[in-house]
Amino acid sequence: MPDVTGGPAGARRPGDAARISGLEIRPDRRGLRDFPPVSYPAPDGRCHEIRRGDYTFEVGLDGAVRRIHSRRPDWPEPGGYLRCGLAHRWVYRSPALYGETFALTGRHYLPHVLAGDRWTGWDPWAGPALHEAIRAWDEAAALAAELAPSVSEPALAALLRRVGAHGRAGLERRARRLRRILRAPLPVLPPECARVDYAVLPVILAEGCPSECRFCRFRTGAAFRRRPLEDVRAQAEGLRDLLGPELVNFASVFLGQNDALAAGAAAVVEAAEAVREVLRPREAYHRRPRLFLFADPAAFLQLDDAALEALGALPFEGIHVNVGLESPDPETLARLGKALYPEAAAEVLRRAEAVNRAPGPLEVGLNFLVGSGLPDRHHRRLEAILTAPGRPVPKGAVYLAPLDWPPGSFRELRRTVLSLKARSAWPVFLYPVEPV
Ligand code: SF4
Repeated sequence: MPDVTGGPAGARRPGDAARISGLEIRPDRRGLRDFPPVSYPAPDGRCHEIRRGDYTFEVGLDGAVRRIHSRRPDWPEPGGYLRCGLAHRWVYRSPALYGETFALTGRHYLPHVLAGDRWTGWDPWAGPALHEAIRAWDEAAALAAELAPSVSEPALAALLRRVGAHGRAGLERRARRLRRILRAPLPVLPPECARVDYAVLPVILAEGCPSECRFCRFRTGAAFRRRPLEDVRAQAEGLRDLLGPELVNFASVFLGQNDALAAGAAAVVEAAEAVREVLRPREAYHRRPRLFLFADPAAFLQLDDAALEALGALPFEGIHVNVGLESPDPETLARLGKALYPEAAAEVLRRAEAVNRAPGPLEVGLNFLVGSGLPDRHHRRLEAILTAPGRPVPKGAVYLAPLDWPPGSFRELRRTVLSLKARSAWPVFLYPVEPV
């Protein structure tokens, strides 16, 4: 029988710690209910906290680890932590540059994915600390599984069983099940998802995208295909079963993949309503459900007033359409393999500004590339359209995605982003990629 301390069974209040053979468990913690850009690693949503040795594991209600914090002396930085998403992809979030990161991204950390871009010139994954932390989670989960059968307190035993099922193999099983539910990969999320700390329920409305941009790392290779409504509903039901009690921590929805709006506004409205009916985001712990999707410029320009009104009437607190413009310069676009007629960028910008000036939850964000290898003309035009005299745009933002920045070019990239930000009528941010 393991030694359980911290108060007798049934006498502990929610949040009181139980100590069991080297695991300290603080069940049912209640973190932030919104996602303010806080400068400290505050837990968000409902979770359990498990401590073992130098590690603190933040665990979802399904027993899967969400974050790992550590006090190890060789941890990359105090306040830095690991995050694991539904697709079992780990990100190290670095708070190192603090105010500067906030100016660049609107958040207080920079994400570093394993084998990702290294334009900061630093790789926190190069040392053993992060890899060992993931192994430490695996060991903690194995210990939880071993202890569960001999713990007499039912709630604690159930928690240990759920944790025990989510070691590395369990996290991978969950990710495989997610892939089976969606039947398509999720190569990238819109940058606006940072507004909910990437806690989104991903549902595929359309596979692939109609463009074949040569520079794109996120092309799926699949031809564009809209999924029928029954398929969307089946995915939502699959997600509900997959997440179980953890569903309460997901208020927001991402309609994928890379150009859901090309399915048409009516399809987006229909899909969002079906997903909402099944997943009930308004019953989530977080207060402000949001809807996110990508759009190609052509799909965005096809929206008439009735379509914009229908999208804006969806029952979400924010409906974020992210349009990938990439460049305002037709020659650069042609070089990148993105087919757009010459006036399209200016037209998208005008219409996006009009949407963002109108009241309501609908907002449009724009993506542009910034790349040391792109022609000067691209950067000159980008500067011209963003700094043209005009009123500030109250909603939406421009996101600058780094293309081919060599390792260690952070200072130059930072200068490019901040100098545009300082003069633009739009809020301007860097687009750091975080996985699902
Ligand atoms: S439209 Fe977007 S996702 Fe599709 S290929 Fe072009 S950049 Fe990539």
